[in-house]
This record gives sequence, structure tokens and C-alpha cells, in this order.
Amino acid sequence: MKIVIVGGVAGGASAAARARRCNPRAEITILEKGSVISFANCGLPYHIGGEIALRQKLLVATPELFWKRFRIAVRTQHDVTRIDREHRRVEAIDLLTGQVVTIPYDRLILSTGSEPNKPAASVPWPSNVSQLWTLSDMDRIIETIRSQNVKRAVVVGGGFVGLEVVEQLHRLGIAVTLVERNPQVLMPLDVAFARIIENCLVEKGVDLKLGVDLQDFTIENGFATAANLSNGTKIATELVVVGAGVRPRTSLAVDAGLLIGESGGVTVNSFMQTSDPDVYAVGDMVELVHGVLNEPVRVPLAGPANRAGRIAGEHAAGGDSPAMGKILGTAIVRVFELTAACTGLSEKACSAKDIPFKASIILAPSHASYFPGAQSLQLKIVYSPTDGKLLGAQAVGGDGVDKRIDVIATAIHFGATVWQLAELDLAYAPPFGSAKDPIHMAAFCACNDLSNAPNLISPNADLSGKQIVDVRTAKERLELPLPHAISIEIDEFPERWQELDPNKPTVVVCHSGKRAHIGACWLRGNGFKDVSNLTGGMSIRSLLS
Ligand code: FAD
Repeated sequence: MKIVIVGGVAGGASAAARARRCNPRAEITILEKGSVISFANCGLPYHIGGEIALRQKLLVATPELFWKRFRIAVRTQHDVTRIDREHRRVEAIDLLTGQVVTIPYDRLILSTGSEPNKPAASVPWPSNVSQLWTLSDMDRIIETIRSQNVKRAVVVGGGFVGLEVVEQLHRLGIAVTLVERNPQVLMPLDVAFARIIENCLVEKGVDLKLGVDLQDFTIENGFATAANLSNGTKIATELVVVGAGVRPRTSLAVDAGLLIGESGGVTVNSFMQTSDPDVYAVGDMVELVHGVLNEPVRVPLAGPANRAGRIAGEHAAGGDSPAMGKILGTAIVRVFELTAACTGLSEKACSAKDIPFKASIILAPSHASYFPGAQSLQLKIVYSPTDGKLLGAQAVGGDGVDKRIDVIATAIHFGATVWQLAELDLAYAPPFGSAKDPIHMAAFCACNDLSNAPNLISPNADLSGKQIVDVRTAKERLELPLPHAISIEIDEFPERWQELDPNKPTVVVCHSGKRAHIGACWLRGNGFKDVSNLTGGMSIRSLLS
């Protein structure tokens, strides 16, 4: 059995190692057009900033190790140019000699990844402009920083990679301008959660330009001296790093006549077989089934690539394997002291797909507030208003964002409802969490909402015509004013609630939604028919104005 793998990084290297473990007799070959395999692309930004000090740490496995330990032949600098499905062979150019080699296969696994988008008007790029996709991109950026003594940089793209680069350049003392064509950074997040990250960037001195695109460069002696934006702004710079998203690298698959899905990724079944059962495809180049939407999507992330590689390797080597699970696009990024993470669908994604949703937003300490070091965490869960099924979640904060999103991703994977989320038995001691974890709190709010006890309304709801009751303190009201509200601080509620009109639709508001819930319960229990709580309170509403 001859297994040939094209692409030797995340998906390809996983496939190769798994194939060997499942079949000690198979002849396994990796063809990789780059000069290394199995490097940690996710670590590239952190070597630029010096947080990963040794470049060598990024080389997770070498061709020598693959041969020594697994007897997997690795041919680096071999660019596969054609798949001949009829004769089951691939053609590759040996980039060192220029020779064309033909390699036969019984099973072929493609993991050719994706290509970074290049903003159209900026091609060809001057030498101090780079994407960050490979080790050589990283080396070029580091060399530019060193040789040009870079003090100012422009990062194009406020997605996960762009933000990591911003953080790392800032760490080097470089003044950074971040240019993002969308009106917010981190598009998978809803606006308010992205605003928390944007505020953090601005506090750190990052010059944030939202809603503008890179137009072209001012070039002097082969160097970009300014990045010119679509709104006419010119940003003087010594380095530009572009992280403007990716598209699947599918030309080999397209030329070979393999089926391509609507999203632009290669169509695969749950064993990662393409429309030709002897040809598998994994990683950024494929589309996978989304666990909430139940439709194919592309999620160019390392987790799905590695897991799919493992499945393809096993299936190719032995004819059987577990099926690839559905994906949720669970993702995380650190931005200075904050972490942002998400899973499943945002409100935006639900709206775009006409999926009915409700959301509960809480602000909670990362662990028991009386234990030193607690950091605040904003958590939002999105759920179905009809059956309470979880649709998605996002969180921004200090410690503990990762575990909350991973727990909720697990719950969504198993089709949990908000009531089931509220039942989870989670580990607790004061340094780690709270007896009622933020996950429980978000779930409790959602359960209250669905049983109208009382219900939640969106932080950007139109409050006109409603009796708005502000239960915050005078100091809080001064800091974040809420016009047209009747102020009754929560501890005055037992004496003063009669001042309110029970026949008016009423919304109770506080900073986070917690005290507002107490007020809303008080009113509902006293006969107010239409009472709701502004979820997330002013901490979120103020970010949306
Ligand atoms: P890759 O790992 O990109 O491997 C594809 C390989 O195929 C490449 O080495 C390429 O040279 C080779 N190849 C392509 N065409 C040919 C050909 N014709 N012949 C031979 N070889 C070929 N994901 C996360 O989940 N979390 C993160 O924190 C994260 N951070 C990232 C940071 C950066 C800077 C980058 C660049 C990516 C990051 N990712 C992250 C994304 C993640 O790395 C990718 O989703 C993952 O590597 C995809 O795996 P893959 O096997 O599909 O492609």
C-alpha cells in the first residue's frame, strides 16, 4: 500500500503519523514544497515578538525524525503540480534540481492548506511588506525589524493573526497602526464584545483604523514608506504585515476534477474522502459540516486540520476510522491582558441565516471575587428561543475565558440546552472559579429568560415608550448616563417600587444585569405584567452607542 501525502504541516503531518501507527507496512511519502515540515505556524507571531525565544522551538518535527521514528519518507521542496487520478500518480517538481518526478499512490491525502489574501491594489509588494504565513515570512519580518530599526508598523487585518502580530510588535516597542476594513475587529464576535478588545488596543496606544482598507503604498527605493488607505489617510511606516484572511488552496484538486463545495473548499465525506474515494483532503482546503448550521463551511483552524488529518491517515491506511465530528469554529486569541474566544454562532451569524435567537450576557469575576486576583469576564450565550438549545457563545476577559468557551463548545457539541448547561457539575475552589460559575450564571439568566422570570431584552433594544428603571448608584449613573430613566437604587426598591406604573411595559437596567434581575423579579412578583431585564446592562449597552 502506497500512501502519498501532499503538504507536510498540520493536516499532512498528522495524517502521515496516524497512517503509520495504523499500518506498519504501508509505504508512506510526504511531499512538501517548503523546506521544512510540521512547523508551528500558530507560533510564528510569538517568535517575532520574542515571546518564543528560540526559532528552533517552532520546528515541531523534522524529516529526519519522521524517517527515523516512523519510516515515513519526506521529500521537502517538492511542489506537486498534477494529480493523475487515472493512473494513480502525482507529478512534482523537485525545486532544487528542477526535475519532474512521478510518484505512484494507492491512497492520496491532500493537505495543501490555504493562501493568504493579498489586498488587491498592493501587488507587487515592496520588500518591507509581508504576510505572515510561513517561516520565511516570519524571518523576513524579523530581518526587516532588525535591519531597518523599525519604530512604526502597520498591520492590515484585525482578525486573530493580525491581533497577535499587533500584540507582538507592541511588545518590541513598535508603534502600531491596525487597519481593518470591517467596522470592528474579530468579525466572529458580536460588536460589543469586539469593542472591549478595541478599547484595550486603544488603551495600549494602538492606532486603530476601522472601516478603511489598504489602498496602496508610497514606495521609495523599493521600500514602502507609507500605507495609503481607502479614505485618503497616509500612514508613515517602516513595516507592513498583512493578515487579511485566507482562501483555500485548491488548484490541484480543481485541476484533478475533484468536487468543490459552495464555500470554495473541497467536498469531503466524514472520512475525509473527496469525490474520488482514493483521494482524501483535510485542513484549510476542505469544507466541513458546521455543528449548529448543519451545512458545509470552511473553518481554517489548526484543530480541525489536525483531527481530520488523523482520520484521513487512519482511513487511508486501514479502510476504516471514526468519522470526523462537526465543527463549531471554536477559536481564541490573546490581546494583551485580554482573551477573546468564541464558539458556534454569534447573534450576527444567526441574523444572517434568519435563525431565531436570544442571548444572555453576564459580567462575572473569573474566580471567587473574595480571592485575590479575580479578573472580570464578560460571557454571552446565544440560544434558541423555542427549545433553549445552545447556538453559540463568546467571552472576553482576563483569566478563565478559555475554559468557559471550551465547556460551552463541548455542551453545544452534545446538543445541550440552556437548562442542561445550568446543570453542569463544574470544578470549584476559590482560586479557580465560583460555586456558581460564570457558565452557570449565563445559563441561569437564559433559563429565567425562557421561563419569563422575567425575560431578557437585547442590550441595544429600543427603549422608547418603555418605563426605564435604573437601579444603579448615583456614581454609576454619572459615569454611564441612561437618559429618560427613573432612578431607584436597588437597595431602595422595597420602599420605592410603588412609585412605578404597573401598567407600563417596564425595563430594569443596572451595570451588568444582575441587580436589574432582582428589581425585575420584585416588580413581576408585585403584579407588573410586562417587565424585562436589559441583558449585560450598561456595561454592554454603553459599548454599542
Ligand atoms: P498548512 O498547515 O498550512 O500546511 C499546508 C502545507 O502544504 C504547506 O506547508 C504548503 O507548503 C504545502 N503545500 C501546498 N501546496 C503544495 C503543493 N502543491 N505541493 C507540495 N506541498 C504543498 N489556527 C488555530 O487554530 N489557532 C491558532 O492560534 C492559529 N494561529 C495561526 C497563526 C498563523 C501566523 C498562521 C499562519 C496560522 C494560524 N492558524 C491557527 C491556522 C492554522 O495554522 C491552519 O489552519 C493549519 O495550519 C491548516 O493546516 P493545513 O494542513 O490545512 O495547512
